[in-house]
Amino acid sequence: MRLFDYIKKSVILCNSSKRGEIGISSLIAITLIYCTCTGIGVKYKALTNYGPTYVEEVESVSSGEAETTTEQPVEEAQPPVIKVEKSGEATSKVYRYATEDVNIRAEQSLNSTKLGSISAGTPIEYVGTSDGWDSVIYNGVPAFIKSGYLSESMPFFETVTLSVKERGIDPNLPMVALTFDDGPNPSSTTRILNTLEKFGVVATFFDLGYLVDAHPEITQREEAIGCEVGSHSYNHKNLNKLSAAQLKQDVEKTEAVFERVLGHKFVLFRPPYGNANNTVQKNINYPLINWNVDSLDWKYRDKTKNLNRIFQTKNFDGHIILMHSIHEATADTVEDLVPELLRRGYQLVTVSELAYYKGYKELRVGSIYRGF
Ligand SMILES: [Zn+2]
Repeated sequence: MRLFDYIKKSVILCNSSKRGEIGISSLIAITLIYCTCTGIGVKYKALTNYGPTYVEEVESVSSGEAETTTEQPVEEAQPPVIKVEKSGEATSKVYRYATEDVNIRAEQSLNSTKLGSISAGTPIEYVGTSDGWDSVIYNGVPAFIKSGYLSESMPFFETVTLSVKERGIDPNLPMVALTFDDGPNPSSTTRILNTLEKFGVVATFFDLGYLVDAHPEITQREEAIGCEVGSHSYNHKNLNKLSAAQLKQDVEKTEAVFERVLGHKFVLFRPPYGNANNTVQKNINYPLINWNVDSLDWKYRDKTKNLNRIFQTKNFDGHIILMHSIHEATADTVEDLVPELLRRGYQLVTVSELAYYKGYKELRVGSIYRGF
């Protein structure tokens, strides 16, 4: 039995000012920032291809858990279109910035061909807006982005700095993060922890505030054996239906439970159902962690089906696997899944470790991550 020192994380809020305060008023400034942002666009690479549960009810690049709602995006008032006239032979280009990861379409329709996607903060040449769509130039050709995802100035992103304890992870070897939502549960979560401890591996638990309150000793054990504990909200409401004030209240209530049970706040947040609309992204002051491998364990409740589903994915490197710590069949699954992943050469790491060792030393508050 191997007992890990638990991972100490320091969270540094790099800047407390609000997003979007940096205004750019001249083309020179835009050009300068464009140059800077090209690098940012590479660093925060677009994360696409999120598995078959992806529900495209909005144009942000997002995936959904089982009960993903089909709400339409809130139509936001559009800023005035900037018309740029040709001056001599030189063409002045206008750039706007993605406020989150967003898809790029060939036509003004969510059903039209997806040409690609750009990640939050990436500049793109902007032509104009009509019928709820922004016209842009993507890879030299005209394309469209659903309105509401581009801002005139470089969005400001608060970040948290990840800090992980050295425990011999080799960044050059493949690694995968197991994540367990909806617990803790005295029976199934305990069984999962027994398995993790038996194999000397760790995972990330996105626990619910009210259950941490009810079963503090289980959450304490999660952390004591080296696992990461993030928040999955206080009591699993669909956050897309909450107001800004309600969202902040949910976070504060959960922070208080974590403080009381673990002695510190959490670093990562997983929204229930993976749902995080613009209001959620602006008001949950944490990086939002979704997944790119969905076990569907909540549906199957069957070890064999869970394993078959998970192993549809062939390369898990940098991936985040979604499971739920409240099902006995999931506990059964983990007993086979962990040794099989180890046999295939994967290092089992926490989400913070996965991000850190894949080069994301900072994560943006309010941004959605699905893998690294
Ligand atoms: Zn959940």
